[in-house]
Amino acid sequence: MTRAVVLFTADLRLHDHPPLRAALAAADEVVPLFVRDPGIHAAGFDAPNRAAFLADCLAALDASLRRRGGRLVVRSGPVDREVGAVVTECGATRAHMAEAVTGYGRRREERLRGHLESLGVALHVHDAVTTAVAPGQVTPTGSDHYAVFTPYFRRWSVQRLREVCPPPRTVCVPDGVRGEPLPSRDALPGLSPGLPAGGEKAGREWFSRWARSGMAAYEDRHDDLAGDATSRLSPHLHFGTLSASELVQRARAHGGPGAEAFVRQLCWRDFHHHVLAARPEASSQHYRTRQDRWRTEKEAAEDIAAWREGRTGYPVVDAAMRQLRHEGWMHNRARLLVASFLTKTLYVDWRIGARHFLDLLVDGDIVNNQLNWQWAAGTGTDTRPHRVLNPVVQGKRFDPRGAYVRRWVPELSDVDDRFVHEPWRLPQDVRARLDYPGPLLDLSEGLARFRHARGRD
Ligand code: FAD
Repeated sequence: MTRAVVLFTADLRLHDHPPLRAALAAADEVVPLFVRDPGIHAAGFDAPNRAAFLADCLAALDASLRRRGGRLVVRSGPVDREVGAVVTECGATRAHMAEAVTGYGRRREERLRGHLESLGVALHVHDAVTTAVAPGQVTPTGSDHYAVFTPYFRRWSVQRLREVCPPPRTVCVPDGVRGEPLPSRDALPGLSPGLPAGGEKAGREWFSRWARSGMAAYEDRHDDLAGDATSRLSPHLHFGTLSASELVQRARAHGGPGAEAFVRQLCWRDFHHHVLAARPEASSQHYRTRQDRWRTEKEAAEDIAAWREGRTGYPVVDAAMRQLRHEGWMHNRARLLVASFLTKTLYVDWRIGARHFLDLLVDGDIVNNQLNWQWAAGTGTDTRPHRVLNPVVQGKRFDPRGAYVRRWVPELSDVDDRFVHEPWRLPQDVRARLDYPGPLLDLSEGLARFRHARGRD
């Protein structure tokens, strides 16, 4: 009787799961294992919104395994210790897992490899499980990674993707492997009220519905803030309840400009994984320094608090920050403009904004969050690092009737379209009746400070 362990990490699905497929092909019995890692807790990364979504994903995975005769084994503790213990308990000779990308994930993988080797067990790490194309698969001549998106996209687009693996029909799990009860979202404090449900089934149904009803219009509508026309698949991609490779292939089969634009966004996700795998320190340090002397938490405490709470007096910024708190999610265009506002208009260190996002985002992800923040702050891969997004111009362009602002900032619900992005222009008596703050600072002052700091005045 041969046995193997499959360690699930950010790949909480049965469809298109190469580690599980390889384990089932070579072993008679397999232990599907998820380890609750105290290192993630110590880093504060198990924020309530993500912990809730994770609980849904684990429950769904367990249910799918049970329908196939198996179950999910959940343990808590250092990953090397727990996988080692399970391997010993069931007599496995091989363990499988998806490749890690972050510095933390890679160190954890190395520790696990060393520990399993000492037990005489081989660790098989599978690539292109969390991304469509493995992070180091395409590289430019003379460098270990592409630092600019467009040439990466060209090469990425012509890569052959592996075939999508079907889900297993049966999974035999050996008896006697100890597991813990599944975590539950019920006891979690401070959840965003509008949080979506997690799990592979929910993700697959969501994608199929959106592919039928939303993908065709994605190219034209993805920046429409009020239209909410993007896929909202990011939490499913973060937890791997959907496979990026499968989504790319299904979108290509769908065809059309909407599908192409969607595939391009999935490539952005792969691109950030590609960059961070080559430069893991970019999760906390500047990818490209601009010699910034950012304002710190102490220096800008009031401005930061107003930004976090959505009371900067710039309606589209406030709407976006309140959406984040309510849903644990924010539209991409809104993420760009609130990040530009914090880093370039208020000139606050991007890491403060990134941390706040990670505290609330259900899709909060070291790879995509940190590198997008760096992009917005001009310390990342943006080829125009000094561009500043004006919240009034952006609001008028991407929320022309103010519907997004009115949805999240009820204080402005009766304000005429003409003033909804500039309530300070309302007649004095009307303004005085609004329970809404005046602008936190003059945009031209912010711009002057930023240009001065970057040596561009
Ligand atoms: P869609 O527009 O439907 O795109 C489909 C998928 O493509 C997304 O689900 C996502 O996986 C990927 N994608 C789209 N845009 C990007 C991008 N710019 N970078 C990387 N992947 C992308 N995304 C996260 O998944 N986690 C984060 O923590 C995160 N933090 C961000 C912080 C900032 C400051 C900014 C500007 C962007 C951030 N993004 C992050 C990227 C992007 O905003 C979200 O992926 C997107 O808004 C999710 O909505 P959606 O699923 O409807 O996207």
